[in-house]
Amino acid sequence: MREARLFEVTGTVQGVGFRPFVWRLAARHELGGWVRNRSGVVEIHAEGDTIMLDAFAHEIASEAPALARVEEVCWRRCEIEDLVGFDVDASVDVPSVGRLVSPDAATCPACLAELFDRRDRRYRYPFINCTDCGPRFTVIEELPYDRKRTSMRAFAMCPDCRHEYGDPADRRFHAEPIACPVCGPRLELVSPDGNGLPGGEDAVTVAAELLSWGAIVALKGLGGFHLACDATDERAVERLRRRKHRPDKPFAVMVADISSAREWFEPTDDEVEVLGSWRAPIVLVADRERLALGVAPGYRRQGVMLPSTPLHHLLMSSFDRPLVMTSGNLSDEPICIANDEALARLHDVADAFLLHDREVVARYDDSVVRVYEGRTTLVRRARSFAPSAIRLPSPARRPLLGVGAELHGAFCLASGDRAFLSQYIGDLDTDDAMCAYRDAFERQCTLFRVEPEAIAHDLHPDFLSTRFAEEFGLPMIAVQHHHAHIVAAMAEHGLEGEVLGVAFDGFGLGDDGTAWGGEMLVCDWAGYRRVGHLRRVRQPGGDSATRNPARMALAHACDAGVRDEALSLLPLADDETAAVLAQLETGLNSPLTSSAGRLFDAIAALAGVCSRSTYEGQAAMLLEQVAGLPAASAEPVIERTEEGVLELDTRPLVAAAVMDLVSNESPALVAARFHSSLAAGIAEMATVAAVERGLDRVVLGGGVFQNRVLVNDLCERLSRNGLHAFIPAEVPVGDGGIALGQVMVANARMEAI
Ligand code: ZN
Ligand code: ZN
Ligand code: FE
Repeated sequence: MREARLFEVTGTVQGVGFRPFVWRLAARHELGGWVRNRSGVVEIHAEGDTIMLDAFAHEIASEAPALARVEEVCWRRCEIEDLVGFDVDASVDVPSVGRLVSPDAATCPACLAELFDRRDRRYRYPFINCTDCGPRFTVIEELPYDRKRTSMRAFAMCPDCRHEYGDPADRRFHAEPIACPVCGPRLELVSPDGNGLPGGEDAVTVAAELLSWGAIVALKGLGGFHLACDATDERAVERLRRRKHRPDKPFAVMVADISSAREWFEPTDDEVEVLGSWRAPIVLVADRERLALGVAPGYRRQGVMLPSTPLHHLLMSSFDRPLVMTSGNLSDEPICIANDEALARLHDVADAFLLHDREVVARYDDSVVRVYEGRTTLVRRARSFAPSAIRLPSPARRPLLGVGAELHGAFCLASGDRAFLSQYIGDLDTDDAMCAYRDAFERQCTLFRVEPEAIAHDLHPDFLSTRFAEEFGLPMIAVQHHHAHIVAAMAEHGLEGEVLGVAFDGFGLGDDGTAWGGEMLVCDWAGYRRVGHLRRVRQPGGDSATRNPARMALAHACDAGVRDEALSLLPLADDETAAVLAQLETGLNSPLTSSAGRLFDAIAALAGVCSRSTYEGQAAMLLEQVAGLPAASAEPVIERTEEGVLELDTRPLVAAAVMDLVSNESPALVAARFHSSLAAGIAEMATVAAVERGLDRVVLGGGVFQNRVLVNDLCERLSRNGLHAFIPAEVPVGDGGIALGQVMVANARMEAI
């Protein structure tokens, strides 16, 4: 029987080759009709045999293109129009927020094959792409996604490209960034003064040659510049550290392909899958210690990624070792995106610049992922992840903005049932960082056509993000930091009602004005009650203690009654010791904190792993690295304060670590024992709190839970106690996810009013 149906497909269906896919599917089932984009929805009119239409309806979802994410296919019967053939209509621009485009995607296998095929007209062309791969949000200026609204607008298509672009049977049909050596962007190798270096066609080969001699090369990637050097050349790596003003923070490296990743590192099968995915993020994998020591000093895991652009593929194919591939910036500044900006700011860092003339419209760092037992955790959500929409469990009443916190800055726009969590922008503690933040914010308001009507922000009045929120003159909703952590995780998992939240991180301002960071909250979207926390200790010298884990160790040791033993372990000068002791005694500029991050700092310093810290989380990450085989845990000691709040006593943990170290136990054992004792303590406190409230869902949030040793142990213990643990996977568990929690809380509070 012949009939006609009108389909509507929702999800990420624009800029992913969806219409040509529908065209091919229709041809296969001998259907007539048309397909078009309408404000983020793909609309299809199809007519033909009923059985064919049923198969068509099924395959729209089951065979969708790689980058598409089909959320729903609905259809209804409609008039038969006796259409012959199948048309692909141009996009119709209707204002809407539901317009979802895939983020940037790494070079697909088909393009990669052409890149190295001598007979192909794009042989060795560094900007090859198709509907399945290539730049997206890094070139898009406005939606709907169309070449004329991208920075590819500057390149007029040659007849060959135009033909492919217009042919529904071609895999580059409507590939907006389509390009070839005749009409597309070009590479250029220049010196730091901007003068062209000999190289021409072979700029990549020359750059590889320079790298093999130990040079530092800045190259323009998808979301900004990278700085590259030979990852096996100790002196090159050391020079890069010195010039970039980055003394310790680990560098990521790039390898040519999976087999090279296996040759140099020990990735698990799960990690290999993520490495080779179209997002091509940095994955933290076990190291084989074959790289220069300076690449990731003190670490047993190495951040590794595969090439994400044809340019990277070409470079890696002429270089037989891993390359350091780190953000093109100084220290923690925002990543450079423009050619002149890079030449100006990286003039003294790079020896040569591999530039091209396609403008990077939006700044995106590389994303960083950890995989454990099949589960991924986003350490940094940026290229190829952001700003994919997150479906809100409860639609936003009004368009909302969450401004995030301070570290790992990111904001979140929400409208309807979508939240757009921005990419990682960096720590918001400088004017440059705030500039990049504003820039990304304005861009995304335009892209998604969201005009916030209320703003959610952190309780902390001095965060630059809070100051930014004040500029709008709109209703403001202050959200407690740890509450936001938990609700962000709830949003991702679609959890409603009351849960037990465990929020462990470095610092967040509590509603009592003190420093929180090891918190247990009974909460729902709108509110929370603090039901437990770590024992509080003084943080000598306030903020400066975060850079000096040894001082924090002394504070914890004094609290635990093992001061003298601890002093024998810590590399503190006499005057520093005296100053810290005076601060602890008088409490001068030494606020009380329940921070888990500071506890990790203390143990790391005692274990001799890290006594000075130059980047956030350094001590905790190093301590996790040295933890050896699981060790027996100490019996948790949980007290109850006068207000009935649970308190996990940290003194036995600190005292045990100190006594073990004094009797010459290894840092590996001490670190392992600390992890398992802390996991036991959290599990115990969570179980007591959950049972009291009749809850069985435990939601984990905060940067401390990037720690896989702790998380694995904790989750096991919780499930043994009959509790279900939830930890975010698509949203960063650290402060990069805060903004999502903020908008959810604000929305729930507005509903309650
Ligand atoms: Zn491709
Ligand atoms: Zn062309
Ligand atoms: Fe936090």
